[in-house]
Amino acid sequence: MKNIIFIAPPAAGKGTQAKFISKEYNIPHIATGDLLREEIEKNTEIGIQIKEDMDKGNLVSDSILESILKNKLSTCKNGFILDGFPRTIPQAISLDEMGVKIDKVIDIEVSDDKIVKRMSGRRVCKDCGASYHLEYKKPGKDGVCDLCGGELVQRKDDHPDTVLDRLKVYHEQTEPLKDYYAKKN
Ligand code: AMP
Repeated sequence: MKNIIFIAPPAAGKGTQAKFISKEYNIPHIATGDLLREEIEKNTEIGIQIKEDMDKGNLVSDSILESILKNKLSTCKNGFILDGFPRTIPQAISLDEMGVKIDKVIDIEVSDDKIVKRMSGRRVCKDCGASYHLEYKKPGKDGVCDLCGGELVQRKDDHPDTVLDRLKVYHEQTEPLKDYYAKKN
């Protein structure tokens, strides 16, 4: 059984690495950002609340995250790679309280300068979610997804001002998790 989590700033490459690990260990990749975006697509009352927080670069409330995750994790009997959760100490405690044991914590270190550059140039496919970069990973044709031909757009939370807010949230609320898990070995 392998239960794996990441501690990493936004756009550090969690999603990319999680896909490799998921394939290598044959365990599901659960990305809370994607689960939340799915909820927004459904246009429910909760979805509207989530969008408001996300667009500002804020964290979504713990109660929403926990209700979405509880259902998902209960189906992962052979382990999982969690991408984007926990992001705060209270979320780590809630995993402990759900009786979820974490086997490995992967810490990805990337400087703030690099993060700002990566996020400002990131573009995603509106249809299939594939990720590109204006400098580092250009599509064959500007603005068009190589995989499905969908339109490439900038996520609202990747806009430069929001990126700085998200980094602040990371340093204040997520980074303390390094100590939390170091203490647990
Ligand atoms: P991501 O795709 O992981 O960069 O997440 C995008 C956004 O979703 C974040 O900026 C938060 O607004 C929200 N989000 C994702 N995971 C969490 C979490 N564990 N707790 C609170 N908000 C989250």
